[in-house]
Amino acid sequence: MLKVGYLSIASPITVTTSASGEGMSTLAGQVLLEGFNLDEMSVSELEGACNGGGHPRVLGFSARGREMGPLLEAASYARENRYLMELDLTGRSDLNISRLSLIVKAIKEKGAALSLRVRADLIDTPGAKALQEAGLDLLNLDVEGLDGISPRMVRKLSDGKSSPIMVTGRFGDFGAAKRLLSMGASLVCLKNPDPEFADWLTGAMSQYERLIGWYNAPKHICSGGDLRGLAFCCPPVKSCPVLGALKKAGMTPEEFVHKKQDLARGTPLQFGDGTCFGSLVWCCKISKPCFMRDAVLQSMNLSESDYMNLKRQLADELLK
Ligand code: SF4
Ligand code: SF4
Repeated sequence: MLKVGYLSIASPITVTTSASGEGMSTLAGQVLLEGFNLDEMSVSELEGACNGGGHPRVLGFSARGREMGPLLEAASYARENRYLMELDLTGRSDLNISRLSLIVKAIKEKGAALSLRVRADLIDTPGAKALQEAGLDLLNLDVEGLDGISPRMVRKLSDGKSSPIMVTGRFGDFGAAKRLLSMGASLVCLKNPDPEFADWLTGAMSQYERLIGWYNAPKHICSGGDLRGLAFCCPPVKSCPVLGALKKAGMTPEEFVHKKQDLARGTPLQFGDGTCFGSLVWCCKISKPCFMRDAVLQSMNLSESDYMNLKRQLADELLK
């Protein structure tokens, strides 16, 4: 469950569909209605489309517009109806971050949960951080046409402490969605997908979450994971990629060791006789087979998903 402003988002899979709702999945976790241009239509028309379509799970709406008046009116409507308001900037060829930060602040003053949808190649780490500081709740990266490099872009922005990330594109299989989530995205949004595929992916992802406990768990740092992967790192006793990751995270190796030990104290991760480093806090991701770690989990009656949930909390605390 992801918190975005006042929203509790149940599924990591979102679907965009036009306001007419054509082809919308009936089972998909949540739907973002898109295609509203507030330069050409009124906010009442937007309201009519959101209220009148009979869509079962509308997460919110995605709109574009250059005038502040209608945007602020739409923000009030979003707040009153607990919708996500998304400002769609994918039509822009560059982003003026200072101006956008002012727009974000003004919309946030109306109380709306706010997402900005931008072309992923137009935003950098300082820009994402500035928007996050202005109050942005969700950064929606549109990666259409950028498939090969999008996971690296997500990792970079996630490591730079941006707002939670949603990635929007035309993804055709479970692996593509999982790859983006494992690089630090919190949500994946399918652009006008085949409804059957969207339903299948939503179900597969919730089954995966039940099994693994941390649906967007990172890879190990040495396998290219983002900074959350520090939760799976061993003590930094040899030269390996953990040193670069610690530098990025602003921690010395000594601080890392103490912080991990302190955070493990009083939790099941403190224990781990028979594991490589004597404590589960240094142990690998559950997907890496290890009979030593699994024996400890079994002796403590900890499920795999309990273990991964503890690692998720550890990652959150480590990177605070
Ligand atoms: S500390 Fe261990 S898990 Fe982390 S990067 Fe180094 S070898 Fe990989
Ligand atoms: S005991 Fe297994 S899981 Fe733990 S650090 Fe060693 S190899 Fe990794």
